[in-house]
Amino acid sequence: MKKQKRIIIKVGSSSLVLENGQLNNEFFSRLIKTISFLMHEGNQVVLVTSGAIAVGMGKLGLTKKPKQMALKQACAALGQATLMNEYEKYTSLDDILCAQILVNHDDFENRIRMVNLSNTLESLFENNILPIINENDALAVEEIKVGDNDTLASLIVPMINADILVLVSDIDGLYDKNPKIYKDAKKIDVVTSIDSSIDEMVGEITSNVGTGGMATKIKAARITTKAGCDMAIISANYVEKIKDLIEGEKIGTLFVGDSKALHSKEHWMVFNAYAKGSIVVDNGASSAILKRKSLLATGIVKVEGNFKENNVIFIVDEYGKKLAKGITNFSSEEIKQVIGKHSQDVKEILKSTKDEIVHASMMVLIEGDEYGTIK
Ligand code: GLU
Repeated sequence: MKKQKRIIIKVGSSSLVLENGQLNNEFFSRLIKTISFLMHEGNQVVLVTSGAIAVGMGKLGLTKKPKQMALKQACAALGQATLMNEYEKYTSLDDILCAQILVNHDDFENRIRMVNLSNTLESLFENNILPIINENDALAVEEIKVGDNDTLASLIVPMINADILVLVSDIDGLYDKNPKIYKDAKKIDVVTSIDSSIDEMVGEITSNVGTGGMATKIKAARITTKAGCDMAIISANYVEKIKDLIEGEKIGTLFVGDSKALHSKEHWMVFNAYAKGSIVVDNGASSAILKRKSLLATGIVKVEGNFKENNVIFIVDEYGKKLAKGITNFSSEEIKQVIGKHSQDVKEILKSTKDEIVHASMMVLIEGDEYGTIK
């Protein structure tokens, strides 16, 4: 019997909305037919949709994205309803039910909210309902936003243990240079490791085209592959080919899931939780951290930022290089009282049974460029 898969499909505004702000009915129909086929084959699908702001702008007759936050949020609120209406229309034609979920960064950072979201998704799967997810743009101010739906889709990967994330885009994959400028630009079929050479290609594409949107796709690829899941970029022109992609055919660009995937807690620490501060350590402690030892107070030089017990923080060397991200056992105020102290003093001063400031099991090393820029 064929293995049933968990598939996340993300579609961008440029595929869903025409330049005049009208919905691209033809694309909606092709997309939902493809999803319906996959679901009827027994796969579980999540759709991450953009387009709310673009549709709202169309309805208000705006041709440029508003700069004013409140108006952008109004466009999102207006457009999201129309967008869902359209999805309702096409899913009912194909005999499937769909449900709307709107999320923000908090829903991925806060463990309890993450569990809530994951439970909702599981329940929708059990009932054969297609979850359609977007960022809650109507309420999200810049600070609490995920910001783009490529990243948002990748954050759902570990939550549902997805087999593949497919980014449906206006470009058919990753090229070694900008294909709009260079005739000899080559599409890369398979990426097995996302290192700085990939960032360089993206840098070139982004700067030449203006937007390009490839940087967020590479960020999404890092998050996805580090959860052990594959990611593909394919063109909206052949959205039907998702079926062949799932069967293992080479389409677009495939980023292969990392065989040394992070455990779920580590993945959350690296990609979902923003560091609330930093602990600066001396050379001795730096080498201990790099050998995956716990952080003790003796090696601490200073503390930056205000953080609480159990917050995620960076461990940084004296030259400012980030060595690790970890969960601290003590608040910034407590750590300041024990800088440079030995374990016995730490326990006495902080009246604690623990002497590790950050335990080795609560730490992820940040090696080279493998995670890209993390916050
Ligand atoms: N959430 C935005 C919208 O629905 C789109 C974000 C993105 O395109 O990545 O308009």
